[in-house]
Amino acid sequence: MSSNSLQPLCLNCGQPVEGAGRNQAVRCGDCFDGFLRSVDAGFLEHYASFGVRSRQVIAETCLRALVLANPADRKILGLTIYEQFIGASTDLMALVAALRSRVSVPIARAFMDFRLSPEVTARFFADAARLSGVELLATVGLPPPETRHPSLPDKVGKDVTRSLREVLADLHRLNEFRELGERALGLAAAHFRAGVLPAGDTRWLAGRDISPAQVASVAMDARRGRLEVAALRVDEARLEQVIDAIDVMTRLSRNLAYAFATLHDDADFTGGFVAVKRVHAG
Ligand SMILES: [Zn+2]
Repeated sequence: MSSNSLQPLCLNCGQPVEGAGRNQAVRCGDCFDGFLRSVDAGFLEHYASFGVRSRQVIAETCLRALVLANPADRKILGLTIYEQFIGASTDLMALVAALRSRVSVPIARAFMDFRLSPEVTARFFADAARLSGVELLATVGLPPPETRHPSLPDKVGKDVTRSLREVLADLHRLNEFRELGERALGLAAAHFRAGVLPAGDTRWLAGRDISPAQVASVAMDARRGRLEVAALRVDEARLEQVIDAIDVMTRLSRNLAYAFATLHDDADFTGGFVAVKRVHAG
């Protein structure tokens, strides 16, 4: 018998699949990508109507809870709001990266595979500052807002135009959050994951305390034998700015996902967007 008989076979095409248990149902890489392309349209539509709100819902809930919270709890809530900002920004960057690589990689795969890093963050904000809104839309396969879409019902065409106009306005505002974004997101590459300790004061650690309007996030860098302490402002003015940034990021993600899903048909998605020119021609 060949060694293939010990390997599980792809459910779809019957090819042997490496690295999976023998008694598990498996798909090979190609068939999995084909499957992902078949759900990409639904993935974007559902994300635009449901998933995209998750960071905003938690941040708004924390903001309401702040009013009644004691000073220590306020710091925890403030830190959680920062985490939602990082989540909303990461989602937006993942979505933009996934739409850009749509020809080579299924959108759902690129979105879920996305990993935050300081380099990716810096490039994202630099692109947003360097490119015009319409140029940025083009990089993710979307036309300028004024493009007419005769194949769509009137109301839907108007919704798409409105969404794309909002994208242009919000892209413009991204610059306001560049400093906040690069700082908090640079930090997030090391912080805001398992093994991080929130700290309401740092006397016990650094001999020097943070202010009452700050919270610290302590992360371990065992390789360098250090604890990294990052202090974040959690005063009301700053948190309102963070919430505003979450709103902008969330609206951008929703409008991009909605417009993209609406302007492409099932054949575009399953065919990997090789005939995508039709959309640009509008
Ligand atoms: Zn297969």
